[in-house]
Amino acid sequence: QDTLVRVENIKKYFPIKGGILKHTIGHVKAVDDVSLAIKKGETLGVVGESGSGKSTLGRMIIRLLAPTEGKIYFDNQDITNLSNEKLRNYRRDMQIVFQDPFASLNSKMSVGQLIEEPLLIQTNLSKVERKEKAISMLEKVGLRADDRAKYPHEFSGGQRQRISIARALAISPKFVIGDEPVSALDVSIQAQVLNLMADLQDELNLTYLFIAHDLSVVKHISDRVAVMYLGRIAEIAPKEAIYDNPLHPYTQALLSSVPITDIDHKREKIILKGDLPSPSDPPSGCAFRTRCPMAHDRCKVDRPELLEKKNGHFVACHLYDR
Ligand code: SF4
Ligand code: MG
Repeated sequence: QDTLVRVENIKKYFPIKGGILKHTIGHVKAVDDVSLAIKKGETLGVVGESGSGKSTLGRMIIRLLAPTEGKIYFDNQDITNLSNEKLRNYRRDMQIVFQDPFASLNSKMSVGQLIEEPLLIQTNLSKVERKEKAISMLEKVGLRADDRAKYPHEFSGGQRQRISIARALAISPKFVIGDEPVSALDVSIQAQVLNLMADLQDELNLTYLFIAHDLSVVKHISDRVAVMYLGRIAEIAPKEAIYDNPLHPYTQALLSSVPITDIDHKREKIILKGDLPSPSDPPSGCAFRTRCPMAHDRCKVDRPELLEKKNGHFVACHLYDR
């Protein structure tokens, strides 16, 4: 299977300014050396707490943010240092659906205008063709043709997210990032929107990076899952391996707090001590050691590498790297 997206050793360090002269006094290491690849048609789920770097990673992959270091490839082209001008050719292929459709949809534009705007900017479609496309996208996402004339505030949160999805997919992207696209929605609506995104993926041949803070959200939609902690990947594996045989103590703790629906998978709840340390001052050695129930002497000094344990199951933890 072909790779669509590949990042190599990417980092994003945000400077922290301080003092009267606003010198740089440190850095927030939002993403600290991440490498991964996403195959065409695949969904990679990325899970982590806020501050884990998952959104920053997503924004770098589609070059909304420039990386501090590292390489980004899209469809085998190095896009790391492309100018905005050159990036325009790729913008059509990469879209992002944000968490809050209220904030991301311009309230002064009608639904028709919202969906047609990217078509106007990015394609040569005529006015009639743009209108037809908007109608067909509305129908694809479960809304109606005459919703074109309405405004975002006339819709529920779930419907607004459907509008965001119609807008993102209208220009036929290859790659779509969902940046917590269902986190702001009622739990009862979340599954509907997730199912819609999964159906559209199959229908439109999309590749997804799906960001969430909770392992339960990405369970059904993902083929593989990456768990991030303080800017690094703690574990990445095919979905079944993550949910049935998590190796990293952090993944185990996250999973133990996911509501159990399956009686065979009864887990003891693991309570993590303490809060997420500051990404500007991460612990030495393993960044997770201040909260890890399995931490030992070596964890204080050696940073664990992300190593393949078996068949595409990678983990960064000294319990496995002897
Ligand atoms: Fe815990 Fe040590 Fe493994 Fe880090 S390397 S997750 S501190 S056991
Ligand atoms: Mg799929």
